[in-house]
Amino acid sequence: MLKKKKGLVLSLTIASSILLAAGCSSSTSGSGDSAGSKDSKLPAVGATIYKFDDNFMSYVRRAMENSAKGKVNLMLNDSQNDQAKQIEQVDTLIAKGAKSLAINLVDPKAAQTIIDKAKPKNIPVIFFNKEPDANVLAGYDKAYYVGTTSSESGVIQGELIAKAWEANKAKWDKNGDGKLQYVLLKGEPGHPDAEARTKFAVDTVKEKGIQVEQLAMDTAMWDATKATEKMDAWLAKYSDKIEFVIANNDGMALGAIASLEKAGYFSGDKFMPVVGVDAIPEALEMIEKGKMVGTVLNDAKNQGKATVELATNAAKGKDVLDGTSWKLDDKKAVRVPYVEVTKDNIQVGKDAYK
Ligand code: BGC
Ligand code: CA
Repeated sequence: MLKKKKGLVLSLTIASSILLAAGCSSSTSGSGDSAGSKDSKLPAVGATIYKFDDNFMSYVRRAMENSAKGKVNLMLNDSQNDQAKQIEQVDTLIAKGAKSLAINLVDPKAAQTIIDKAKPKNIPVIFFNKEPDANVLAGYDKAYYVGTTSSESGVIQGELIAKAWEANKAKWDKNGDGKLQYVLLKGEPGHPDAEARTKFAVDTVKEKGIQVEQLAMDTAMWDATKATEKMDAWLAKYSDKIEFVIANNDGMALGAIASLEKAGYFSGDKFMPVVGVDAIPEALEMIEKGKMVGTVLNDAKNQGKATVELATNAAKGKDVLDGTSWKLDDKKAVRVPYVEVTKDNIQVGKDAYK
């Protein structure tokens, strides 16, 4: 036992400080060598976030940490957008005695690899935010998903775009051709949210009877800085031919706004309608300032909370829904609803990110 401990301490010296902190506070052997750690008696949940440096995920992470307090020893890892690194982290978490896993995949296709590690040890896995394929989830009775119905965000965003366009088209249809000329900033290709939002937002606008023309679409990987660069290039190429900016998330919407501001938009009567998804506080500020038409609440707080609640129950060997008000659908998924957010109901967004 002592020997094993030393090995663990040694290997931890090369691990990140986050892992180190988690390792010191997790007493999986029960020998009590982590005296002073308030979490040492709590069941251990091993968790990964695909990268800490993601605006939306930072709020999910905060909600997870808050929900874990005093209830579970949450060993939380930053996978730094590296799937190989995440798999190593999962190995380490299992070695440290994690009783359940809460996994935000880097690559949505890697779910099976994680299950292959957990299933032989009978460790339940709660995937969150990046939905694995249904058949992969179905292949392990102790695998679950916490997230949303991806398509719903696209539909709501599309409805929002259509309503705003109808109300303002006299001004916003700059070339007066009756069509909505847009550019679209896409999230990470292959991410179920990015794919569904891209498809359903545009489909919904068309279903409302509005003709559209896509001037440009490209991924900015959910990232504000990348979105600014894209928008700079599109403005250089299309300038005032662009009549709408559709972004798969608020981070990229904010990046686009930064670019638009540089080009003189949002002062005088130079305006560009921009929409996003998430309702992060920075986006709500833009909506209040009139620089964003609206967004779609992606409820970080409840997704983080549900993830930890299910993982805690799983770690204790209980039914994952025990003592909670969540429901599982036929794919073993808890789906937190999306909500349209504009100036009129801005408080809904504010409350969700408090
Ligand atoms: C959010 C994005 C975020 C992504 C991370 C999405 O649900 O809307 O803002 O970057 O999840 O996986
Ligand atoms: Ca037009």
